[in-house]
Amino acid sequence: MSILVTGGAGYIGSHTVVELLKEGKEVVIIDNFSNSNPQTLEKIKEITNKDFKFYEIDYLNKEKLKKVFEENKIDAVINFAGYKAVGESVKEPIKYYINNISGALVLLETMKEFGVKKFVFSSSATVYGNPEKVPLTEDSKVGGTTNPYGTTKFFIERILEDIYKSYNTWDICILRYFNPVGAHESGLIGEEPKGVPNNLMPYIVRVASGILNELSIFGNDYDTKDGTGVRDYIHVVDLAKGHIKALEKLDKEQKGLFIYNLGTGTGYSVLEMVKAFEKSTGKKVKYKIAPRRAGDIAICYADPRKAKQELGWEAKKTLEDMCRDSWNFINKKC
Ligand code: NAD
Ligand code: UDP
Repeated sequence: MSILVTGGAGYIGSHTVVELLKEGKEVVIIDNFSNSNPQTLEKIKEITNKDFKFYEIDYLNKEKLKKVFEENKIDAVINFAGYKAVGESVKEPIKYYINNISGALVLLETMKEFGVKKFVFSSSATVYGNPEKVPLTEDSKVGGTTNPYGTTKFFIERILEDIYKSYNTWDICILRYFNPVGAHESGLIGEEPKGVPNNLMPYIVRVASGILNELSIFGNDYDTKDGTGVRDYIHVVDLAKGHIKALEKLDKEQKGLFIYNLGTGTGYSVLEMVKAFEKSTGKKVKYKIAPRRAGDIAICYADPRKAKQELGWEAKKTLEDMCRDSWNFINKKC
């Protein structure tokens, strides 16, 4: 029995495939390389010394997707495929709704046709919108999303709830990621955003390495410890391990829809991130204070206790690990 991983060549998907292979699972990856590249698959093999099946397909292509289910005995699906750039989603909402929502629906319909009923979904803390209070528990209000990307995650969560209620035979795990950063300790796989990065950590490493000139800190007048935005940064390897625990849960349970925050429970400000990066790498990060970025919120961090109690999962890696591994990855590439 295999685990089908859509978007397995991407940032979180590739780290999760490494953990799945380490656990001795059989893995089938599909990806269209719209935001990744084939070399990542070779790096996964190098890290694990294990092999897997790969199909270069668009998961919206029902006929090709059906072939994957015909040719492999799929036990469960982890769905990473999708677009994730918040700013681009505001400019191109249709592109985002089609790829993320129609793609998920084609996948879910194909799963139904083949009797595959275990599904792990990559959701996001963005479903909470602007939090009324922190830390965020899984029963905090959702739906006040501020951009089409976040709305795709919110809608898919609702679709999954309906699927669960109507068929009552599926096991579904919705994982709400906070801010994934870092890279595999080998430095072989990591985050490779195309063009100028939008996210903080990829931007910091590019400033430190001289690829970019200086970091703009978006606002220092928020109601936070030092005025800059606070987020819950989580090491991607910890996040990947959360998926193994989610699959274990679905194997054990008979029928259920489970939702978990995957975060550390600690919020760091942008200035704290810059300082932590400088301390752990010895590299200077030039920055300036810039106006707030539209759509940003002041503070967002998780209450991760539910995942600890029910999955036996908690983030182990430190902020220093996150900074060091992000730096190590970009250095190996340059
Ligand atoms: P990523 O872009 O690195 O990985 C997504 C992968 O899916 C890429 O390899 C891309 O080529 C592939 N893909 C996209 N559309 C496809 C399609 N139609 N058919 C086949 N493959 C397709 O992104 P990531 O950071 O690894 O994120 C994985 C998932 O987690 C996404 O759904 C994302 O929205 C979600 N998520 C990410 C973050 C984050 O900050 N990275 C936070 C919360 C949630
Ligand atoms: N941020 C920043 N400069 C950048 C990128 C991000 O000051 O070039 C800030 C941003 O305003 C937020 C935090 O860093 O407070 C995390 O932003 P990111 O885009 O990484 O994640 P998200 O906004 O999705 O939580």
